[in-house]
This record gives sequence, C-alpha cells and structure tokens, in this order.
Amino acid sequence: MPHQFHAYDQGFVDAIRAGGPDANGLPAERDVSDGAGNPCRSCLRGIPQGEAMLILAARPFETLQPYAETGPIFLCEKPCAPWRGPGIPPILTTSPEYLLKGYSPDHRIVYGTGTIVGVDRLEDYASMVLKDARVAYVDVRSARNNCFLTRMTATT
Ligand SMILES: [Zn+2]
Repeated sequence: MPHQFHAYDQGFVDAIRAGGPDANGLPAERDVSDGAGNPCRSCLRGIPQGEAMLILAARPFETLQPYAETGPIFLCEKPCAPWRGPGIPPILTTSPEYLLKGYSPDHRIVYGTGTIVGVDRLEDYASMVLKDARVAYVDVRSARNNCFLTRMTATT
C-alpha cells in the first residue's frame, strides 16, 4: 500500500516562524542545529549543522481532547520546502526504530496498533495498520523520546 508522509501543518509552521505562540502559548525558542538529531517536521529532513532552528511545543491534533498529546518539535527557522515525497523522508532514516500508532477518524488511539518497529519494517507495518477500517492515520514518533515526527496516510 502506498503511503504519504505529511509535513506539519503549514499554517501552524508559518505562524510559528512569524513569532506566534506554540501549543503551550509561548514563542518558539531559537537555537542552532548541531547537525545530529534535529529533525525538521516540515521538510522532514535533518536541520544541517550550524543552521538556525526553532524549538517549540506542538500538538498535532485539531482540537483539545484527552488523546491530543503535546510535545517538543524542531523546525528550520528559515522557510523550507515542506515534504511532498515520494518515498521515506530522511528524518525516518536516522534511528533504528520508531514508535507507530494508529488513530481513529476522531483522533483517538486505536488500541493494539501501537508498537515500536524497525525502520526496515516501518512501511509494511503502517500498511497493515492502515488496512484496519478503524484507523484513519498512523503517527510516527521517536521510539526513545516519544516526540512526534510525522503522520502517515494511505494514498488512494
Ligand atoms: Zn525544514
């Protein structure tokens, strides 16, 4: 099953870069990438060493509800090209494994779908979960730190 990996909501990204509040109501912190472990959630690439980056709280859900987790993300400070694919984005090639979880159309965890999978099995596992009629999308998070990385949907 072909997938789409989604760049973070562009309206939110634009607002953050313009100095708007993050999911905790604070302006993003500014830092400089060390070139290792600073994945941008818009271009879905590692932010190169020495490049300016933003650190902020993000809640990748439309509304507040019990399953709407908030956590830290990085973004390139300068505008970058949001990921459009095809293939696996570079930020999913830097760790041996990732946490995947299926969510229902009303943005609730579909229990039983959450697991840590090796990067070589990521697409096969996501395909299996996305075939479940209860699942609308799969979120990919850091297996070690639980940080949100990207969202996957089936392409039709
Ligand atoms: Zn970027």
